[in-house]
Amino acid sequence: MSVALPGSVPEALELLGRDGAAVPIAGGTDLLVHWPVRLEEHDRKYVDLSHLDELKPLRLTAAELVLGGLTTYWYVIREPRVREAFPLLVDAARQVGAIQIQTRGTWAGNVVNASPAADGVPVLMAYDAVVVLESAAGREEVPLDRFYLGYKQMRRRTGQLVVAIRLPRRPYTFQVFEKVGSRRAQAIAKVGLAVTKSSAGWRVVAASLAPTIRRCPSLERLLDDGAPVRSADDLLPAIERDVSPIDDIRSTAEYRTRVMARVLYADLREYWGGG
Ligand SMILES: Cc1cc2nc3c(=O)[nH]c(=O)nc-3n(C[C@H](O)[C@H](O)[C@H](O)COP(=O)(O)OP(=O)(O)OC[C@H]3O[C@@H](n4cnc5c(N)ncnc54)[C@H](O)[C@@H]3O)c2cc1C
Repeated sequence: MSVALPGSVPEALELLGRDGAAVPIAGGTDLLVHWPVRLEEHDRKYVDLSHLDELKPLRLTAAELVLGGLTTYWYVIREPRVREAFPLLVDAARQVGAIQIQTRGTWAGNVVNASPAADGVPVLMAYDAVVVLESAAGREEVPLDRFYLGYKQMRRRTGQLVVAIRLPRRPYTFQVFEKVGSRRAQAIAKVGLAVTKSSAGWRVVAASLAPTIRRCPSLERLLDDGAPVRSADDLLPAIERDVSPIDDIRSTAEYRTRVMARVLYADLREYWGGG
């Protein structure tokens, strides 16, 4: 194994472009988890991004929030202007691991790790985030809701770095993030849900309910159309069209589906003023 420590983004892109198997490393909180047990997987070149200071800050303008390719959860938690404009980012960041993970883990690492149970991705997707990718060949932008192609598969080509994540700034009339796990902290979501309503319509994003985190088009249509919803069960047909949960060590498919319906219904009742 070897580690390169580039001092600038062009240098990092050059290193990644030269060796197609090279792996970018940001906080390392996903990459290093398997370190002691899967040593053979680590016999390659790592490109340590930690000296790329230009990718660390975030930028908030009247039009958008731009998270850098190395912006951490902690950076977002500590920024009151972000809490005001994008409160779900802070809600989700506070539920990622513990403070040690929040200070090292990055939003871009969460996106590229592509876990179906991630906490950062659902809120980014509910805010219509766009992933900005750069390689030695140039820059491209991919909406996050079209980024994933299947389990751990994504529209990120060899040599591309996530250099930013852009979120359009809009007034929201409703926004909520829910994480259902075995305990309140240090848990992997059995069901994750991020919901927003703005002039662009409803966004309902489900986590731990399919091979990738995904938007739920049937639920969004139901809510955009204002169809009557009188109980959690009324949401089930749309949920069943939108997601494909599995039974695993954390939960069953049936539990995940029913919990999603109940949690979403409880949130919507509050929005509709039903108490
Ligand atoms: C104890 C513990 C608890 C955790 N709890 C949670 C939790 O509650 N919720 C949750 O969602 N996650 C959790 N995680 C997972 C992890 O912390 C997050 O997914 C985190 O956001 C990963 O970011 P990172 O910077 O550490 O990524 P890294 O580990 O550095 O990288 C992850 C992947 O992204 C790639 N990558 C990183 N940055 C870039 C970039 N800029 N461009 C292209 N590719 C890039 C890497 O090559 C790698 O494939 C936990 C991890 C641990 C160890």
